Amino acid sequence: MAGQPARSRSPEASLERHLRRALLLGGGAVFLVLAVFACSDDTDDPDPAQTAEAAAAGSPSDPPAVEPAPPLAADGTGASTGSGDPPAVLTPSGIPVAVLDRTAAGYLVRTPCDGTAEVSAGMPIESAQIVLDPGHGGRWDTGAVGPNGLVERDLNLTLSRAVLDELAERGISAATTRTGDYSILHSVRAAFADALGADALVSIHHNAPTWSPSSVPGSEVYVQSRTAEQVRADSARLGGLLYEEITAALAAFDDIAWSGLPDAGVLRVLRSEGDDAYGMIRRPSVVTALVEYGYLSNPSEARLFATDEYIRVAAEATADAIDAYLHSDRPGAGFVQQPRTFNPRSASTPCDDPVLE
Ligand SMILES: [Zn+2]
Repeated sequence: MAGQPARSRSPEASLERHLRRALLLGGGAVFLVLAVFACSDDTDDPDPAQTAEAAAAGSPSDPPAVEPAPPLAADGTGASTGSGDPPAVLTPSGIPVAVLDRTAAGYLVRTPCDGTAEVSAGMPIESAQIVLDPGHGGRWDTGAVGPNGLVERDLNLTLSRAVLDELAERGISAATTRTGDYSILHSVRAAFADALGADALVSIHHNAPTWSPSSVPGSEVYVQSRTAEQVRADSARLGGLLYEEITAALAAFDDIAWSGLPDAGVLRVLRSEGDDAYGMIRRPSVVTALVEYGYLSNPSEARLFATDEYIRVAAEATADAIDAYLHSDRPGAGFVQQPRTFNPRSASTPCDDPVLE
């Protein structure tokens, strides 16, 4: 099924290695525990979750060592963000969070479920050229589930980690919105990328339900339409490069019974009101594209997505596209002129914050 040569490196290396390589940072000590509960109102996913009957959410299994928060000034005044504090930190349990303020105890941070919490320590994330966003996460938001049992939230995370590796090899600094199997709201994912001032945010998904048979990969890339003119143009170019590289790489796999929609390509998807339909496209201020690599609901594609070879090829193609976006004037390809209309359901999904330290 997979027509590509094998390579020995596994995409499933340890969390710490990925984070250190991606963030290019070092670490130190650890302490306490906090958790916050909130409810999501942002279930406008391109590929809404099947009902969440999956295993309970866990936290990352291999948390990195982190640095204690630096001391406050002698008069006890807490410096606010913007006065030298990092825009984000990796908490002692390995959760990337935006920093809201400094406190006597450490950092006040925005939790994945959009609460606030204090952490005593954190590995600073000073900046990132690229923020990757593994779609879905946690027990309530599995994303699509393949006929072979492959769960989208896990597949997206595995692929994102492999892309982080590929970007590190290219000398491109990157961070990720999600480092394990836990809930995180769209609004928080977007705010994290905005806090870092990333050059681009790339959200990683796999699609469902299956549509018509297709002779080519049915990959879709969603781009921003209701934003500043330059952001709109950059989002389209990023999307075009992702579509071009990913579909070319996937087409090299032999004997896959692809599926897809007739208007698959680089798409603007709008609600009837006229704004971008998907939260991960509508919410970020930074340049954003969301990739649906293929159909996890399609048995032939699901078998491919379960292979290390798919992860390697898809990660390389994604990193190649990001590299071209940052370092070339290539325009990309696959643009669909006619916007697609889609009105997402507005149901609420629970959100359980992970342990932060
Ligand atoms: Zn998805």
